[in-house]
Amino acid sequence: MTMATKVEEAGFRPASRIAAIGVSKILQIGARANQMKREGHPVIILGAGEPDFDTPDNIKEAAKAAIDRGETKYTALDGTPELKKAVAEKFRRENGVDYALDEITIATGAKQILFNAFMASIDPGDEVIIPTPYWTSYSDIVEICGGVPVLVPCAAAAGFRLKAEQLEKAITPRTRWLLLNSPSNPSGTAYGEADYRPLLDVLLRHPHVWLMVDDMYEHIVYDGFRFVTPAAIEPRLRERTLTINGVSKAYAMTGWRIGYAGGPKAVIKAMAVIQSQATSCPSSVSQAASVEALNGPQGFLKERQESFRQRRDLVVAALNAIPGIDCRTPEGAFYTFAGCAGLIGKKTPSGKVIETDADFTDYLLQEAHVAVVPGSAFGLSPFFRISYATSEAELKEALQRIAQACARLA
Ligand code: PMP
Repeated sequence: MTMATKVEEAGFRPASRIAAIGVSKILQIGARANQMKREGHPVIILGAGEPDFDTPDNIKEAAKAAIDRGETKYTALDGTPELKKAVAEKFRRENGVDYALDEITIATGAKQILFNAFMASIDPGDEVIIPTPYWTSYSDIVEICGGVPVLVPCAAAAGFRLKAEQLEKAITPRTRWLLLNSPSNPSGTAYGEADYRPLLDVLLRHPHVWLMVDDMYEHIVYDGFRFVTPAAIEPRLRERTLTINGVSKAYAMTGWRIGYAGGPKAVIKAMAVIQSQATSCPSSVSQAASVEALNGPQGFLKERQESFRQRRDLVVAALNAIPGIDCRTPEGAFYTFAGCAGLIGKKTPSGKVIETDADFTDYLLQEAHVAVVPGSAFGLSPFFRISYATSEAELKEALQRIAQACARLA
């Protein structure tokens, strides 16, 4: 059920800007899985996009100290000077990009950064190129802002990466942004410098197109993958690149709601206009905690990365052992995006034909009591996403159940 039909039922007429947008499939599946859990079914949820680790203690302590110092008031509109300084140092130290303090903005999560950026730049009919599979919120936010998401399917055989020819073909005079996400939610695909280069060359030939990059999963990469961000690779594009990041995934701080971005002063200023009428500023306490996250010890990042890598290897191997399922090994993030083309057309024990990836994930929830998200939620089928940000014991149990459920398909 979409959000639109729900509110209409209650006698409320939703604004046209949200009429076509449903509540995210991920949230719907989560709600159904939780309902089944409440009814006593042993459901394992592999749908959540957040680390199962806790926020490190030094970060929590910094937040408590900020409260005790009385840092409980509104802060500067788009971030405290202390946090902007920590972000500038982070960009310099880890990414090799120099941003002045007025080229940095802080918001209530990277999601609000995206929202501010599109609200501040999109006129009705403006186009945003989004390679698929993509994180669901990208297209929904663009649509809420009156823009047109131009979805470009990226094949599994190409590692789910956008190719230069595809980008060239998708650009029109109405294109405002290309939005890239590396490592990617949902595919885990990451772009190395050699993957980025041909795309950046295309952008150099189209000066009206700006580049938005979502580096949220920067710190979750495997097998020695060298993370890079486009503003560092191509200084000529720095003046039309918005580099987005946040503390949610790296520091296990999803609930603190802090995201940030670096970019040219003009776009940063325009984003502040939106923020000033939406939230006035991000949470003061969360900003103090984020200063500690960025400036404090970083050693635990490697340990957590190693623990995620073990889980990734476990999940990829178990999935590829199931006939009909095909999973590439992702370079980063904590998701696998496996193909289930080999199971389409098969019959469940109750006689229902699996026609789509959503039929397959419904079957898994119903029969195996495992909640995963169909590729259709991310704009590419037939696939399904597993989030492996959960314990090895739970992952093993879930994968065993998935294998048994698949074996029952005829
Ligand atoms: N970008 C990507 C790719 C994500 O997966 C998420 C969270 N699911 C976000 C941005 C938003 O993160 P937050 O708002 O918590 O900073």
